[in-house]
Amino acid sequence: MSAESKYCQCQETQNHFLQRAFEALQLEAAQRELLLTAFRETSVSIPLKPHRTGDDDGELRTFIGYRVQHNHARGPFKGGLRFHPSVNLGEIRALAQLMTWKTALVDIPFGGAKGGIAVDTTQLSPHALETLTKRFVQKMEPVLGVHQDIPAPDVGTNPQVMAWILEEYSKSHGYTPAIVTGKPLELGGSAGRLEATGHGVAFLAGKAAQDIELAIKDASVVIQGFGNVGFHTAQHLATMGAKIIALSDARSGVFCESGINIEQAQRHVADSGWLEDLPGTEPVSNAELLELACDILIPAAVEGTINCDNAEAIQARLVVEAANIPVTHLADTTLRERGITVVPDLLANVGGVLVSYYEWVQNLQEFPWEYDTVMQRLERRLDQVYEQVRDLAQQRSVDLRTAAYEIAIGRVNRAIALRGF
Ligand code: GLU
Repeated sequence: MSAESKYCQCQETQNHFLQRAFEALQLEAAQRELLLTAFRETSVSIPLKPHRTGDDDGELRTFIGYRVQHNHARGPFKGGLRFHPSVNLGEIRALAQLMTWKTALVDIPFGGAKGGIAVDTTQLSPHALETLTKRFVQKMEPVLGVHQDIPAPDVGTNPQVMAWILEEYSKSHGYTPAIVTGKPLELGGSAGRLEATGHGVAFLAGKAAQDIELAIKDASVVIQGFGNVGFHTAQHLATMGAKIIALSDARSGVFCESGINIEQAQRHVADSGWLEDLPGTEPVSNAELLELACDILIPAAVEGTINCDNAEAIQARLVVEAANIPVTHLADTTLRERGITVVPDLLANVGGVLVSYYEWVQNLQEFPWEYDTVMQRLERRLDQVYEQVRDLAQQRSVDLRTAAYEIAIGRVNRAIALRGF
């Protein structure tokens, strides 16, 4: 799918979900317009001469970097930084908006933002990637800040990239760990942040399974995407007793009816780079994987993977959106009509930004928390948020997504009114 059509699709999907909630909340046109409009959109050019082995011996290329700051009524802008070839302003805009609803839903004092660079990181040397990241920070520096905008990892970025952001920002501001979350532990990162998103996805899958009377023990699970989120989701679900029958990465998938050993899969990927040829599994394409018979399907890759082409063929009873915007609005309607429960992205993967908040708090207090404290707080908060969303959904006879949006939009709206935007 081209970057452009994906961009149209994810913005359209996001708008559609919002309009449904706006209707339910009976918001006036002027309020809708304010909530839909980004506060600030910054795009910068980053010239570089990248080469696989260095950053100054290749052909000159100009990369484009973005930071969209959607809303800060409830606190500083917060959201990840994505390095991927398909990054474009429309996609970042939709994802920035989603962060506003996520932080509001989980009730942490942040707004929403997202950034990114359109780049294929596999074509860059580590040194070129470091230079690209640091130049991005140099150019974005005026709009970032501990109480203004705090980036974090997303698709294609990791704790190392966050460390480079910390270093570049600290050059002009003094040592500032709270400028970014998802950092390495050695630089003020939080215990539990790396696994937070996946752990939360698995925990919420367990809660939702209970509600549809599906035993998580021995439930068959299919996960699309085996990056940080997919891996930790799989690992935690396996410890909860679920059976991971299929996994995939950007290239292809693997299937094993009796269950895949996640640690073995991780070792195989570390050694060979891909899931392909994982011993004891059969190959399956990414498209086939989504349509496998299973109890729980977890899209943990990119936007729009469940769409009009496959929504009718999904066989799972429960879909848990580990990725952002993985189900298009038309597919969402199909799944609902077919009686499939969907735990929406703004709820399902909110554990990541929740622990980012804990990391920021620890940095401001200069007082690290223990792993168990972080995980207990994460689970307790997710438990409360899930029940609040589920109860509202039942009370109003709406789906979990509409209920989650209603809570989030209500909070942002009240903050806007109180502050007098
Ligand atoms: N990129 C993650 C997300 O989409 C985490 C954002 C953050 O921690 O600020 O939620």
